[in-house]
Amino acid sequence: MNRQVAGVRGVAALLPDAAAAWTRVEERARAWLWAYGFQEIRLPVLERTELYARAVGEVTDIVEKEMYTFLDRNGDSLSLRPEGTAGCVRAGIEAGLFHHQTQRLWYLGPMFRHERPQKGRYRQFHQLGVEAYGMAGPDIEAELVALGERLLGAFGVKARLLINSLGTPECRSRYRAALVAYLEGHAAALDEDSRRRMARNPLRVLDSKNPEMAEVLASAPRIADFWNEDARAHFDGFSERLRALGVRYEVAPRLVRGLDYYSHTVFEWVAEDLGAQATVCAGGRYDGLVGELGGAPTPAAGFALGLERLMALARDLPAGRALDVFVMTPAALNARALTLAESLRDAGLGVEVHLGGASPKSQMKRAQQSGARCLARIEETGVVLRGPGDSESHVAWSDAAERITTSLGARNETS
Ligand code: ATP
Ligand code: MG
Repeated sequence: MNRQVAGVRGVAALLPDAAAAWTRVEERARAWLWAYGFQEIRLPVLERTELYARAVGEVTDIVEKEMYTFLDRNGDSLSLRPEGTAGCVRAGIEAGLFHHQTQRLWYLGPMFRHERPQKGRYRQFHQLGVEAYGMAGPDIEAELVALGERLLGAFGVKARLLINSLGTPECRSRYRAALVAYLEGHAAALDEDSRRRMARNPLRVLDSKNPEMAEVLASAPRIADFWNEDARAHFDGFSERLRALGVRYEVAPRLVRGLDYYSHTVFEWVAEDLGAQATVCAGGRYDGLVGELGGAPTPAAGFALGLERLMALARDLPAGRALDVFVMTPAALNARALTLAESLRDAGLGVEVHLGGASPKSQMKRAQQSGARCLARIEETGVVLRGPGDSESHVAWSDAAERITTSLGARNETS
């Protein structure tokens, strides 16, 4: 036998049971996105590397060490997308979607980051991203949070909502100076990553996942002490609306994002049961990004929900539709089985025919696994039907299709 080719570490196939569960989750999520007036946008997986260097930032885990970057045959540097916002903004600018209009967009698909694979952290993973453009106030942020709550609630996910504000660029530059002064005073307690970041992107130091840094970061200055009037009014507006919508939240004074185009609101949902991979969904306002990528200044806010983490936390997964009919047949009667199956499908039923030529016993095993409500066994003399329920009957070949259709009731999802 030939040697098998191994898959890529941290890059998994979704096997049929998992894929079916994902499809049902996606359908339920789509229904909520529709209910909030969001439209799907399908974005490419490949972009120019430069896009991420500018949009995600040079001094981030993603760009420094996680991207799948390569030169294509023309010598252009391309990257597999590590996240969706940058590509969404890039595509929106190119298509003129942000000109004097609001947009509510969503996308779902694989993202790629070269991280150490572990539970809740993969190299190919999936995000549901939601982005809203052209709305400057806190109302859209509150609506985004309400949508996030729906999406998590729809699957019984229990997570705490943390919120904070990065204020305006002016607040942030005063805060940055104070934070750097503090970090310099505690340089001995910082790990290598943090010391490097301190110089170029100090807010990112607060993102550190190193538990040994927790103590020194807990006493770092809080950005709220640097908010100006604008920042405070925006944050108060946001939190008031959350209360009005009945959304429970906790203010997390050190929740930040490091990049200059973020402003005002940031939020994330953290689950207790995911260990270090606790954040299931994260987002905020990024008013500076459209301008940064060459578009006209456009207010923007969004979030990204990690689907693997959502699936791991879900307690309430929607049930799928099982097949209606499973047809067992001796190989010699396959042609009859196929004919019967076609007339059942004409009536809108879902039908699988066992064409493997297996023994009656193993066909029956497969039939039962299929969950079909009706099992039909083709014989020389007619068709033996079992179900719905435990009833068994022998019908003439010419009556079989009609008997099955009647006993299952009219259903027509394929037409
Ligand atoms: P983390 O802090 O866990 O590394 P992050 O800050 O890098 O997350 P974001 O870039 O904000 O994550 O992505 C949004 C969401 O995407 C995360 O909350 C998470 O649910 C999911 N996610 C991010 N990276 C991965 C990964 N490598 N594997 C699985 N899910 C991921
Ligand atoms: Mg990460």
